[in-house]
Amino acid sequence: MEKKIRVRFAPSPTGGLHLGGVRTALFNYLFAKKHNGTFILRVEDTDQTRFVEGAEQYILDCLNWCGITPDESPEKPGAFGPYRQSERKPSYKQYADQLIEAGFAYYAFDTPEELNEKRAANANFLYGQKTRMEMRNSLTLGANEVTDLLAQNTPHVVRIKMPSDEHVSFNDMIRGHVSFDTNLVDDKVLLKADGMPTYHLAVVADDRAMEISHIFRGEEWLPSAPIHILLWKYLGWEAEMPQWAHLPLILKPDGNGKLSKRDGDRLGFPVYAMNWNDPKTGDITKGFKELGFMPEAFVNLLAMLGWNDGTDKEIFTLEELIGSFSVDRISKAGAKFDFEKAKWYNHEWIKNSSAESLQATVSSALLAAGIEVEDEKFLLKVIDTIKDRCSLLGDFVAQSAYFFTAPTTFDEAAVKPKWNLEKADFFREFASQITESATASELEEAFKTLAAEKNIKPGEVMLPLRVMLVGGKFGPGVFDIAVLLGATETKSRIENAVNIFNG
Ligand code: GLU
Repeated sequence: MEKKIRVRFAPSPTGGLHLGGVRTALFNYLFAKKHNGTFILRVEDTDQTRFVEGAEQYILDCLNWCGITPDESPEKPGAFGPYRQSERKPSYKQYADQLIEAGFAYYAFDTPEELNEKRAANANFLYGQKTRMEMRNSLTLGANEVTDLLAQNTPHVVRIKMPSDEHVSFNDMIRGHVSFDTNLVDDKVLLKADGMPTYHLAVVADDRAMEISHIFRGEEWLPSAPIHILLWKYLGWEAEMPQWAHLPLILKPDGNGKLSKRDGDRLGFPVYAMNWNDPKTGDITKGFKELGFMPEAFVNLLAMLGWNDGTDKEIFTLEELIGSFSVDRISKAGAKFDFEKAKWYNHEWIKNSSAESLQATVSSALLAAGIEVEDEKFLLKVIDTIKDRCSLLGDFVAQSAYFFTAPTTFDEAAVKPKWNLEKADFFREFASQITESATASELEEAFKTLAAEKNIKPGEVMLPLRVMLVGGKFGPGVFDIAVLLGATETKSRIENAVNIFNG
């Protein structure tokens, strides 16, 4: 029988969710959905020192916002729970025992002081093949002594015993054949003094227990792969081993190294999916959501970081991504993150969204800016008129506020230097010609005819008209604005501004 497709996103709840983490979740999700599989969220919270209150809920919120909701998770347990490693604590010790029994792991009794001394003497100290025989562990101490130390509950850890002169290799779905020299890998801790497993033991035990079929994770985990593969073998599970795929790194905009949160702070763009409120420091780190990204655009741009469908197509819905996704189109090379390109995706998504689908978001953004929309139909027209000028959802406020409240300040510098009584005259006359039923092209026609009659170049009065209606030098076609505002409002804005410019 073919193995069921089961994949997992396995974050540690230690803080904000980096966009690379969301991309890992997304690729897991796409692979699962493409193959009628199951997408699992497993919370890897065995490192109690790094645990952060609220981070798990935050991860779930981010996944929900993106629309990549797990089929099994701590909040929606399936048959393989619990889904938090801390709650699985009692299950791991048996594997550490089994490994020790078989000679693949050993007890280490070195105190933190002893380890610090070694590190002080040698900054590159690694606990492993070259050094393990100088340390206090079950390989160097007599059997009786080890039994006594254990009986006295002497603090100890369990370490894997890395074999010498071996090559651990596997076939990565993205990278192909990958091989590691075991001499270069240290004896990682598997079980800590508090009885908690480390990541290495827990990840292998749980991937097996949860019947994970494929592992998609970031390239930063590649150096851990030999340890995991040896554990699968040493525990006698080799035949059940999942397939591995290490996703390319997301790089800084200049391509020099992995994109970090600090790069975002430095260069002025978000790196987290949603606002992260650090409970320890009280600092809030801005996320893509709050900056005004549509979740569809965010997911779309993440998918294109290291993947494409083999054509020039760049805009994909989640459904289309599921349909087109294939692992052999994931690239090995790191993907540079370009915030301008990210905004381009969002702009495309906003532009192609219906006014109705943007209505609620724009309405509440306006309300937050103190503008209460009374006529929802009018709002829909406004959205349609300005949406292709917005790259971020927040842009709707600046781009549309003047439709709801007449400008109180004007870009006078753009108008005043060339203002004169002839222009004032022109505008008063133009205002008197505006009728409620006129279309934008009729208004434009009337405007140009009147300018010609008065010997004024239309270009000279076009910008003043815009400033009168909008307050500044931006916005869609000025006659479209006039039609949307209606004759009464347009006339009143022109008259008011003429008085100001005259004064
Ligand atoms: N807990 C690891 C993380 O924080 C999971 C790595 C893996 O997928 O094996 O990303």
